[in-house]
Amino acid sequence: MQNNENNSSNFFDIVICGLGPVGLLACNTLGLRGYRVLGVDRFETAFNFPRAIHIDEEIVRIVQSVGLLDELMPRLKPSDGLEIVDKNFNVLFSAKTISESGFASSHFLFLQPELESILRKGCERFPNVTLMFGKDITDFRQEKERIIVFSKHEQIAKASYFIASDGAKSFTRNKLGIAINDLGFDTSNTR
Ligand SMILES: Cc1cc2nc3c(=O)[nH]c(=O)nc-3n(C[C@H](O)[C@H](O)[C@H](O)COP(=O)(O)OP(=O)(O)OC[C@H]3O[C@@H](n4cnc5c(N)ncnc54)[C@H](O)[C@@H]3O)c2cc1C
Repeated sequence: MQNNENNSSNFFDIVICGLGPVGLLACNTLGLRGYRVLGVDRFETAFNFPRAIHIDEEIVRIVQSVGLLDELMPRLKPSDGLEIVDKNFNVLFSAKTISESGFASSHFLFLQPELESILRKGCERFPNVTLMFGKDITDFRQEKERIIVFSKHEQIAKASYFIASDGAKSFTRNKLGIAINDLGFDTSNTR
């Protein structure tokens, strides 16, 4: 019974809730390893606004590990350092780059919608990865060794694992009552 269910088209090894950079990278990473993955996002298109603007060499290496370095590299602008200023151009935070990465720099500027587009296209390489856009995950329920995922009252998938990459306001975190761990970072101490 369980085996038949596992082979059905709406059974996945992993359902990934949220297809921002984190969810899309997870889709590529797990897709490359042959897992049956369903990635779900409530919006049809990538949020067309440059939110995150900086990645370091370690993130570039992760993108490289899923075979997308050639697509990403031309989109990156190497950075010698970073200064964050207030409206009067007083420096609030500054950091200098020491490059030991083998890339042009250890730090890069990028446009988040471009990164998301590369990661979305990357998923198309994997027949075992399905992306579903315009679907809001509104509930999930654990039953024995599987998780059942719902959008409104429709059951959209069953899976062995569920990854929450649904952003800062995470529906999943709220549903599971997981608190935010405040590390007490104080921006006034960064000068
Ligand atoms: C205004 C603004 C400015 C920012 N500026 C910077 C910056 O300068 N530098 C920087 O490093 N970072 C910045 N960030 C943060 C950066 O955008 C995030 O760190 C990054 O997007 C996090 O990626 P993520 O994949 O974890 O989540 P997100 O990009 O938030 O993606 C989460 C995805 O989950 C989807 N989702 C959520 N709930 C559900 C659900 N129930 N069902 C289906 N889908 C769901 C959402 O539609 C979304 O696509 C900024 C953010 C904002 C809002």
